[in-house]
Amino acid sequence: MCVQVRMFARLARSFGPSFARIALGLLAVGSIAAVAPGCATETTGDDGSTGEDDYTRKKGKLSLLVTVDWEGRDLRDDNLAAMQHLHARFPQVKIIHFLNAGYYTKQGANAADVTARINRAIQPGDEKALHIHGWKRLFEASGLTFRASPTFWGTSLNANGRECIDSDCGHEVPISLYTTDELRKVVKFSLDTLETNGFGRAKSFRCGGWMAKPNVRDAIAAEGLTYEHSAVPTVFLEPKLGTMPVYGWLSELWQGTTNVSQPYTIATASTPLTEVPDNGALADYVSTQQMMDTFEANKAAFLADRKKNVVVSVGFHEETAASYVPQLEAAIERMYAEAKAEGLPFESVTSEALTVTAAPPTH
Ligand SMILES: [Zn+2]
Repeated sequence: MCVQVRMFARLARSFGPSFARIALGLLAVGSIAAVAPGCATETTGDDGSTGEDDYTRKKGKLSLLVTVDWEGRDLRDDNLAAMQHLHARFPQVKIIHFLNAGYYTKQGANAADVTARINRAIQPGDEKALHIHGWKRLFEASGLTFRASPTFWGTSLNANGRECIDSDCGHEVPISLYTTDELRKVVKFSLDTLETNGFGRAKSFRCGGWMAKPNVRDAIAAEGLTYEHSAVPTVFLEPKLGTMPVYGWLSELWQGTTNVSQPYTIATASTPLTEVPDNGALADYVSTQQMMDTFEANKAAFLADRKKNVVVSVGFHEETAASYVPQLEAAIERMYAEAKAEGLPFESVTSEALTVTAAPPTH
């Protein structure tokens, strides 16, 4: 391989395939090939003859994202055991854990015990990311004044009620009610808390209730996060949430998001984020067959253009893992069996392997 092409392959790995497409396009029209004849020929074939990486060979992959939202409510043995079962059954599957600092701010929480419990469900190779819900204790620990309404259900919490005083409350309060400056405090507090307890500094985020409005996205970008995983096809949520205010908010926020939506760049007040659609939603809202339908739809998109990377995202919640991981496992089993039978390049990845392949949805 000539040096220019090697250089482009290196830059493509650094800056992503969009850059490389432009660069190789220049090669193809001869602006660089004129300087280095032979290079264009060497890189234009689809036959893999260059012997370089998958991108250089123009081969995409069908990638699987398995995600779990840690709600910050509790860490029950049965739910953690279900997650251990998932790892044991599919050792090749990496999980993106959207962790919640809210466990550490519960009344009487023992940090060492919380950390040990969370770690039961995490394997090497998993990604440790960030999830935030509007917990009163978490927001107060971050130096903020708790907001109690309106909740996902259109109600108002009684911040002086027994639940809020004796234990914690606020899970159903969308964090988008707070200002960007306020949100930066809770994002920083959460990142710091998780890092202090050994989980590293998260690069990826999913918002509680998928409510990552622009002010939330501005806050996470300003605090150094890179990937935002909250875009969701609301069609999956309609049966359970269709009559609730949150359904209307999400339908407007993520309009145009479907089960084949792919990662795209989304602007913020500072650094742009990579928006990663949760295109298969979470197991509490979808059946095994619906997860397979999402897989099939994305497989079809991949087969239509094998040069592209296509991502399928499925997941669940830690707090309901014992109930819903079995149907997710059934879907994962079928996905791997089908991919193997058909010789598809199918693999489980985490956020850092993702590339932006799609234009943002048009509203
Ligand atoms: Zn959540």
